[in-house]
Amino acid sequence: MSKLLLFAAPSGAGKTTIVHHLLEKYDELAFSVSATTRERRPHEVDGEDYYFFSGERFQELIRQDGFVEWEEVYSGLFYGTLRNELQRLWAAGKHIVFDIDVKGALNIKKAYPNETLATFVKPPSLEALSYRLRQRGTEDEANLKKRMDRAAAELAYEPQFDRVLINDELAKALADAEAIIENVLQND
Ligand code: 5GP
Repeated sequence: MSKLLLFAAPSGAGKTTIVHHLLEKYDELAFSVSATTRERRPHEVDGEDYYFFSGERFQELIRQDGFVEWEEVYSGLFYGTLRNELQRLWAAGKHIVFDIDVKGALNIKKAYPNETLATFVKPPSLEALSYRLRQRGTEDEANLKKRMDRAAAELAYEPQFDRVLINDELAKALADAEAIIENVLQND
């Protein structure tokens, strides 16, 4: 049976790096490509990193019950997991990996309690998180503040997760993430 492997974290905690590493290493895994209304970043590919939708298209899909879960993650910016994306990956017999926000992860866990393994990717501290977000250079000051405010609130959800992965030293975090996946594959 396919598992839903959720990786949730405050923005900038490094979960995208971890998720990309796992997808490259294990053929048994596939990425759940989310829909979003935010603008594409220069290195991102439509249909691979996200499906980039207009606000109207996103609202239409909400009305048609096209999402397993969706969130207005930042004010005016919507993100959601598409039902037909999950069906497609399920049919391919893959374990499905999610890069998702904390609330979205907990909603998926509620919808599929037996299939879900939810991992909380934790930055070593809020200061480290702020430093990383600045280094990444993708956000202006207003967005940085939005992301930091949200991160502080998200840290409180850690106890509701099945696994916690502290992303301090990247090599160690990647090894810990591999251990989580290998455990799932062994029990397959
Ligand atoms: P970013 O804009 O940095 O790509 O993502 C912002 C936040 O939205 C991240 O925490 C990311 O994991 C989350 N996110 C991405 N896709 C989804 C989704 O389908 N649903 C929810 N609830 N959050 C998502």
